[in-house]
Amino acid sequence: MKIGIPTEIKNNESRVSITPAGVFELSKQNHEIFLQFNAGLASGFSNQAYQEAGAVILDHIEDVYETAELIVKVKEPIEAEYNLIKENQLVFTYFHFASSQQLTQAMLKAKAICIAYETVQDEDSSLPLLTPMSEVAGRMATQQGAKYLEKPIKGKGILLGGVPGVSPGKVLVLGAGVVGIQAAKMAAGLGAHVTILDISMKRLRYVNDIMPSHVVTEFSNEYNIRKHIKTADLIIGAVLIAGAKAPKLITADMLKEMTPGTVMVDVAVDQGGCFETTKPTTHENPTYIIDNVVHYCVTNMPGAVPYTSTLALTNVTFPYVMQLANLGWQKACDLNKSLAKGLSMVNGKVICPEVKKAFPELV
Ligand code: NAD
Repeated sequence: MKIGIPTEIKNNESRVSITPAGVFELSKQNHEIFLQFNAGLASGFSNQAYQEAGAVILDHIEDVYETAELIVKVKEPIEAEYNLIKENQLVFTYFHFASSQQLTQAMLKAKAICIAYETVQDEDSSLPLLTPMSEVAGRMATQQGAKYLEKPIKGKGILLGGVPGVSPGKVLVLGAGVVGIQAAKMAAGLGAHVTILDISMKRLRYVNDIMPSHVVTEFSNEYNIRKHIKTADLIIGAVLIAGAKAPKLITADMLKEMTPGTVMVDVAVDQGGCFETTKPTTHENPTYIIDNVVHYCVTNMPGAVPYTSTLALTNVTFPYVMQLANLGWQKACDLNKSLAKGLSMVNGKVICPEVKKAFPELV
């Protein structure tokens, strides 16, 4: 199969969809890979590395879309790409259709076959192509929080791990899912006191089993949240209620209970945020301050660490890419029920129930 790897053109997106290792494996199976010039550079992969692995380098994005039967991307196509996608072309990427009627309409018009990373789902209901990005964001949440606690960037002026003779900082993590556990693990590694709250006893039992004893679990309710925010230095929002907006666990009035310079990182910002005062921010301008509390609410945290994120993402997407290339989308989806859940659109028709629900007028 002819496989295209375009350069991501969404603002601030530096990841690439297939690494040279992936190109090498696909080439061994006699697939032809067409990489747009410099598509992997920002993730640390040179054109030469791709060429040596078997890719053909094309100068322009138009050439990649024109040549390939299967396009593998990272982010959803943006407007400049809509007209490049052809009828019957298979596109495998994050789409987030339910949040964009414009994109949904454009892909229906193009009559492309769209398989969305974010809805590929395993039997246990987990979303294997979202998990690695939550892992990256969770670990980054603590790293960013620790940085913004420094005084010159308006934080409280606390070193999270403390030093001999000085107590470490206090970290409160709301949600013990993928993001929350990774954030807690990093904070614990720095030596901070960590409290992690969840409404799922199953999650809390798991955390209690695997974490060191300075990570404490408590049930998530308003009383406990109000108690902990008074002394927390860093608060990380990591809750998710599948398919719904995040619950506002920290209301605007609660900021007055916190000590000045407290840092709040809302990883759940992409679901509306779990703090009432959350507003989406960017890597260029990641923080703002309300009532002396520093807010960090970047919507695409993994984008800041493309060297790590590209590998984390392609580790999980590549087996599906190989299956799609070897079998074609129909056979691959027949054989692999997880992949079939990602099938969103075929020849101008919406397949995915969530997208149908979001835009009934388009079905
Ligand atoms: P997850 O499903 O693994 O975990 C969510 C946890 O929240 C679950 O354990 C759930 O029981 C818990 N929860 C629900 N309601 C709660 C409440 N009231 N109090 C405490 N806990 C509660 O989800 P995840 O993969 O960890 O993702 C968390 C959020 O991070 C999602 O909104 C996701 O989209 C987002 N995310 C953002 C970025 C970014 O760049 N900003 C990157 C990756 C993920």
